[in-house]
Amino acid sequence: MTRVHDHGGGVRSLRVPIPDNPLGHTLVYVVDTDRGPVLVDTGWDDPASWDALTAGLTACGTSVADLHGVVVTHHHPDHHGLCGRVREASGAWIAMHEADTAIVRRTRRTRPDRWFTYMTAKLTAAGAPADHVAPLGAVGPRTRLPGLSPALPDREIVPGELLPLPGRRLRAIWTPGHTPGHVCLHLEEEHPARLPGNGRLFSGDHLLPGITPHIGLYEDPEDATVTDPLGDYLDSLERIGRLAPAEVLPAHQHVFADAPARVRELLAHHEERLAGLHALLAEPLTPWQLAVRMEWNRPWERIPHGSRTIAVSEAEAHLRRLVKQGRAEPVPGSDPTAYRAV
Ligand SMILES: [Zn+2]
Ligand SMILES: [Zn+2]
Repeated sequence: MTRVHDHGGGVRSLRVPIPDNPLGHTLVYVVDTDRGPVLVDTGWDDPASWDALTAGLTACGTSVADLHGVVVTHHHPDHHGLCGRVREASGAWIAMHEADTAIVRRTRRTRPDRWFTYMTAKLTAAGAPADHVAPLGAVGPRTRLPGLSPALPDREIVPGELLPLPGRRLRAIWTPGHTPGHVCLHLEEEHPARLPGNGRLFSGDHLLPGITPHIGLYEDPEDATVTDPLGDYLDSLERIGRLAPAEVLPAHQHVFADAPARVRELLAHHEERLAGLHALLAEPLTPWQLAVRMEWNRPWERIPHGSRTIAVSEAEAHLRRLVKQGRAEPVPGSDPTAYRAV
């Protein structure tokens, strides 16, 4: 069943399924322009998702072949996955922020074993036990993983600039945090139902109505820069709150209004979480030990292997923030490094 929703003013959304994922689907937006429709994100690279995307475009009275371009909010496979197939079928351009394009470039040339060597070292340094790290060593140079050959974008999304959408005003707003090159896209046109506020915002995974996006470290085997993704994310949230769009069109769940209220909620949530972690650090903890003690959507024993790796990354991002705020510090001489509250 194709589900198309008309948001008015030449904007529609398609629900493109994400296989075996509790999120269920990506909301792909179809924005009419004078040169043909432009997509905001595409969906997961899977035959069923492709079918949903093409059927959805047909239901909109258009087709993949008519697409003029694709604007990608960030490089994750539930957003960027089908870009290559879309470009092949239409000749449409693909635009992405340079920081995420760099990840796409690196992913295309990094062999899986290089990636797993990096992850093994990283997890060991975070204090992960051997039974968590060992399965990663079983991956050989010929292992194929999904999403390892993502399409290379052909245009750069420049923060603050209008995208080349004939007849529309769509401005890129850089919102790093969930990924280093995540962008939100501000449709600077009056809301079709004249809701109060400044236009509409395609928010990608940055601002969602009912869930908080994953904020981990920007994993990069070739970059030793000490980044602060959670700090970036909180700054990006405030920027979107100040923009005060009349309506937010996120990449998952559903459309919603009152972005400033949602931003306040998320800022409070992260402040509370940081305070909770600060309290846990009364005793020195490695990132792994901190992840085990943090609150998740289910008990740690029931969190599967892959999600535990993501949880550790999230614990590390919070530690980075606390260290940067001067609220935590590494314990000298500890190996793996443990952190304690200041
Ligand atoms: Zn994402
Ligand atoms: Zn997503």
